[in-house]
Amino acid sequence: MKRFVLIFVISVLALSSGAQSKYALAIHGGAGVIEKSKMSEASQKLYREALEHALYVGDSVLRNGGTCSEAVVCTITELENCPLFNAGKGAVFTNRGTNELDASIMKGCNLSAGAIAGVTDIKNPIVAACEVMENSEHVMLCGAGASEFAKTRGLEIVDPSYFYTEDRFRSLQKAKEQEKKIDKHGTVGCVALDQFGNLAAGTSTGGMNNKKYGRIGDSPIIGAGTYANNQTCAVSCTGHGEYYIRLGFARDISALMEYQKLDVKEACREEIRKLSVLNGTGGVIALDRDGNIAMEFNTPGMFRGYIKSTGEKAVAMFGE
Ligand code: ASP
Repeated sequence: MKRFVLIFVISVLALSSGAQSKYALAIHGGAGVIEKSKMSEASQKLYREALEHALYVGDSVLRNGGTCSEAVVCTITELENCPLFNAGKGAVFTNRGTNELDASIMKGCNLSAGAIAGVTDIKNPIVAACEVMENSEHVMLCGAGASEFAKTRGLEIVDPSYFYTEDRFRSLQKAKEQEKKIDKHGTVGCVALDQFGNLAAGTSTGGMNNKKYGRIGDSPIIGAGTYANNQTCAVSCTGHGEYYIRLGFARDISALMEYQKLDVKEACREEIRKLSVLNGTGGVIALDRDGNIAMEFNTPGMFRGYIKSTGEKAVAMFGE
């Protein structure tokens, strides 16, 4: 009897604090020409394991009562530290042979957001974006100023050579020879619903291979590459950023749900349709407050995965 009362009291407290047992998390690791015939079994295995590991990290945060933004930061940090993806270690090179990183995060409970753009020495850009959101009066900081701010917050600063990877450097040479970008992305993103019913989204990238003139893409732009609103959904994008900026892609998905009452899948499909009309390429992951997940793309593949409190879990790469 005593035990029953205790459980009852805990349940009432949990409910009154807004807690629910349900949570969900989805990730992407970039969209592009990701085809089974072009990937060795060994490489597929590496990507699969990296995605599964990131899901495991996000799941542990949410299962233990962490918030959605904590889950987004921890999950993306894992992906940034993995050289397979175009974010953090493994970022693509600019035309000048440097690495310039962008990241953003947004909370759906109060629409607070943080972003950094064009940074060269912050080990984990998503952590810096979160610091901007939580501990500054601004939404977006760029370049040297962003690094200066990161230092004041005690974040890990690295020598720019930390971001060098042989594979990405070769991609730059190839792109320069062909005078075009290689259509294989690798930006990372995460959307999460926590046990308190709150949504958050985050995105991190090295941008586009061979980019020039301080180019910034959609990933650090709130409303373009990242958006979250508890009333609708959390969104993280990957693809040819210029099109995502022009469409106000992530925010438009939220608007389609808010004004046209589309569900999260319909809204993502409609936005991808708009992208295709402009001849843009890429993908998106989104999650609503009921834990419904959408993962849409118009490229041959997108590295992606999700996990739910029900134990349901999946990882995929190709257009299956
Ligand atoms: N959207 C990123 C950008 O344009 C690139 C990507 O997602 O692959 O910077």
